[in-house]
Amino acid sequence: MRPEILFPLYAPITSLKGVGVRVAPLLEKLAGPVVRDVLFLRPHSVIQRTHATVNTAIEGATQIFEVQIDAFKKPRSPQQPWRVETYDGTGVLTLVFFGGFGGQLEQKHPLGAKRLVSGKVERFGLNLQIAHPDYFLPPERADEIALFEAVYPATAGLPARTVRKFALEALERAPELPEWQDAAWLAREQLPTWREALVRLHAPAGEIDLAPQTPHIRRLAYDELLAHQLAMAQRKADRRREPAAKLVPAEISAKIRADLPFSLTGAQERALADIRNDFAAGERMSRLIQGDVGSGKTVVAMLAMADVAGGGGQSALMAPTEILARQHFETLSGPLSDHGISAVLLTGRDKGLARAEKLRALASGAVQVAVGTHALFQDDVNFQRLQLAVVDEQHRFGVAERQRLQAKGEAVHLIAMSATPIPRTLELTVYGDLDVSRIDEKPPGRTPVATRAVPMSRVEEVEARLRDVIANGAQAFWICPLVSESELIDLKAAEKRAAELRQKIGPGVGLVHGKMSGPEKDAVMADFADGKISLLVATTVVEVGVNVPNATIMVIEQAERFGLAQLHQLRGRVGRGSRESACVLLYDPPLSETAQKRLDILRRTDDGFQIAEVDLELRGGGDALGLRQSGFPAYVFADPIAHRDLIATAGDDARMIVDRDPELTSERGKALRVLQELFDWRPSSPLRDAG
Ligand code: ADP
Ligand code: MG
Repeated sequence: MRPEILFPLYAPITSLKGVGVRVAPLLEKLAGPVVRDVLFLRPHSVIQRTHATVNTAIEGATQIFEVQIDAFKKPRSPQQPWRVETYDGTGVLTLVFFGGFGGQLEQKHPLGAKRLVSGKVERFGLNLQIAHPDYFLPPERADEIALFEAVYPATAGLPARTVRKFALEALERAPELPEWQDAAWLAREQLPTWREALVRLHAPAGEIDLAPQTPHIRRLAYDELLAHQLAMAQRKADRRREPAAKLVPAEISAKIRADLPFSLTGAQERALADIRNDFAAGERMSRLIQGDVGSGKTVVAMLAMADVAGGGGQSALMAPTEILARQHFETLSGPLSDHGISAVLLTGRDKGLARAEKLRALASGAVQVAVGTHALFQDDVNFQRLQLAVVDEQHRFGVAERQRLQAKGEAVHLIAMSATPIPRTLELTVYGDLDVSRIDEKPPGRTPVATRAVPMSRVEEVEARLRDVIANGAQAFWICPLVSESELIDLKAAEKRAAELRQKIGPGVGLVHGKMSGPEKDAVMADFADGKISLLVATTVVEVGVNVPNATIMVIEQAERFGLAQLHQLRGRVGRGSRESACVLLYDPPLSETAQKRLDILRRTDDGFQIAEVDLELRGGGDALGLRQSGFPAYVFADPIAHRDLIATAGDDARMIVDRDPELTSERGKALRVLQELFDWRPSSPLRDAG
């Protein structure tokens, strides 16, 4: 239920003066449907105006002049502008109006009248001019001209100045709200109240007031982060109140482990111990295992599934593509069945009798482990006693899909797996409601992938080398970038590249691209995995997690265009067998300094977590695109990089609040409910990866 005190902020934008049927859709597009959204619009820059005279005017500055109208120069054709000559006692200033704006000029500003005019000063030949002054007023209206003016986002038909007017009106509607932040903390950090912060947001006195570390921006960012962290902490606490069957490490699990041809890495041990702690706690587990491709997540999940089977329960492992599901099945079914645990593979391909047979086995409990794709959560799939869902590449599934699988049993534990390592601070933001285990150590004996950056001018050398290694039986990937807006154009480029390579290297060149259907892609990938294709040219990111141990070379064209995380993932496709592998980053010179640094870090390390940290630093505040793709919420005020410290504090604060006041009934608790409403972060909001 929304607190009454927020009603004015949740009124529709049409309640703002001047927002009628024409403006409302434009403003809604820019901000959102309610007054709160307009209140939360952020100015992106500040115009600073100074008073000047023509003889002291500064080109490029926005200045205010007091002038007298001297002459009107009508355009001789519609393409030409109106010109208004003015004089301020020190020199001539010409005002220029393009696009038929001049019609009413003479009426509104008669010859000889005194006027205040403001705008950006330009030089045109010997003359100074202002094109489309931002103010052109009689002197008695001087106070309408702001010396500092916040510039708001605008859209066609809705100029920034009008948006500013709406924002200021929204500000007037904003009530004082009860303080939800810890008073001592606010005082220590010298942060203003919520309302004061908004007042300053909308009245910046210079660029500095727009910077992320300005106290009022930090205050708003912290509010937003706390609202989000609190929602996630509440979710986590709710989940922990859901009782689930206690599970203990099974003997069968120990036997499987003893039979593995390797021993677990320390990081795998820790992840398994985390899972077993959760199993023993009698609460429903939601744990994310984060680790690079090849770090050995699947083995850990397998041992957890064996624990479940040992206790008489069932597990389901879901992968995003058929080929991945098949690979998992091949890895798991051997070790499991050796110890009497039977597994089935269930994908969209299973039809008719064979499928019915598998479904019966799952429903009766004859089978303890199901490995599959989306086919696993279809309505007619039933389990006798599903206790654990394992979701590989969890970001490829929607929350609803994962929940459908979990709904096939009671209080089903969840292990989500992700091969996209993210930095710690962001971990809290993206996965704050999950428990996270990191596998930050690779199994021993891998030869690192030799990584080189090579300018495009040397592509022929690369092709020649490819021809040699392929002749010796190796396999390789060649990734083409997505460069244009149009997938079709990218596809053409990739087809051309594939044709060229076919000419140079031979017939075993295949192409996989984004315009293909899932099954078509799977078919090409399967041919590659089977060795029928030696060189795979791809426009899209090669299917996550596909294991082709024989592939030893990864060529990435225009590597400078890819995100660091993406490059790291792509490189992870090779170096999976015992043979030496290489990754060639082809680039178009010259490289920007940042691009250079990005390619450098790839050459220096193979640690996904370290790469993710560097990636975050190199991004600077601006480009949050990659973050958003990895599930990072679209914050209004908080900046994931500039406000890292605040993310960590908000996480701690949220946990403390939930421990002390889980129902939010204290004074602060009640105020915090207002905060959550204000930012739409309620415990029930649809968070992407919530467990
Ligand atoms: P992920 O799922 O994290 O990508 P996998 O679990 O598929 O990684 O493991 C990749 C490969 O490494 C598999 O062939 C697996 O058998 C092997 N592997 C896993 N753990 C170890 C280990 N501790 N030592 C040696 N090899 C391992
Ligand atoms: Mg995997």
